[in-house]
Amino acid sequence: MAKKSSKIQKILNATIKSMFLESKANRSKNKGWIEVVCGSMFSGKTEELLRRIRRAQFANQKIEIFKPAVDTRYDEEAVVSHDETSVMSTPVNNSAEILLYVNMESVEVVAIDEVQFFDEGIVAVCNKLANSGIRVIVAGLDMDYLGNPFGAMPQLMAVAEYVTKTHAICVQCGDLAQYSYRTVLNDKQVLLGEKESYQPLCRHCYLEKQKEQQTT
Ligand code: ZN
Repeated sequence: MAKKSSKIQKILNATIKSMFLESKANRSKNKGWIEVVCGSMFSGKTEELLRRIRRAQFANQKIEIFKPAVDTRYDEEAVVSHDETSVMSTPVNNSAEILLYVNMESVEVVAIDEVQFFDEGIVAVCNKLANSGIRVIVAGLDMDYLGNPFGAMPQLMAVAEYVTKTHAICVQCGDLAQYSYRTVLNDKQVLLGEKESYQPLCRHCYLEKQKEQQTT
């Protein structure tokens, strides 16, 4: 009987856990996991990452924050969102460098912004951190401007315990947007830019724009 009720309690705990956006960090059990926050440009994914970072800071958890050195749009070291709130981060040149900076014994949370810019090794790095009992939170673009999955994002989403997809608002029709439509002529996958070079669009409006582009 006692065995049965503890099983029910376990299921209940898991259900309660799944009701929330974030899980409670529990280092005493030495259990880590991966959270992915993804979406198009202007979808608020960095804001969501910063929100989770701040809450971990309020809980006095030891946290390390990284971003790829390629992303220098706003500041060399800060993770900055569009509403200009920021926290300090360490810029790294590749995924392996992250492991050099993280003390596996003391760090409780590792956050990575713009994770789509990292090499494929980022998946193994995130798994290694989570397997060591660290809560790993990554944020990034799920698709490039052509609507193709970006970098290692599909793999990261597959190995993560939690995936949150944030949406922007379509500037054409006001629906939820998932595409980052490029408004300037440039066919490089990585083109750092903001409102001057990208527009959030829904599936329908994105297709319309593509048709327009093909006929001109
Ligand atoms: Zn639309």
